[in-house]
Amino acid sequence: MAARKKVDHVCRKCHRVLDADKEACIICGDSSLSTDWQGYLIIIDPKRSEIAEKMNIDLPGRYALKVR
Ligand SMILES: [Zn+2]
Repeated sequence: MAARKKVDHVCRKCHRVLDADKEACIICGDSSLSTDWQGYLIIIDPKRSEIAEKMNIDLPGRYALKVR
């Protein structure tokens, strides 16, 4: 039996993917985190990314497309 993987948390406000041990968002400081999310997105250069523009992302990093 494989060890159960920790689920990363996602900030409901800015969609940033956070490590499972985080209790608040490292970007906006919001503590409304969710483990129910879909779509993994890595933004390397927000200024050149259409998705980043649509989602109002201005920092490179890991994001989720959908958060419940
Ligand atoms: Zn956030």
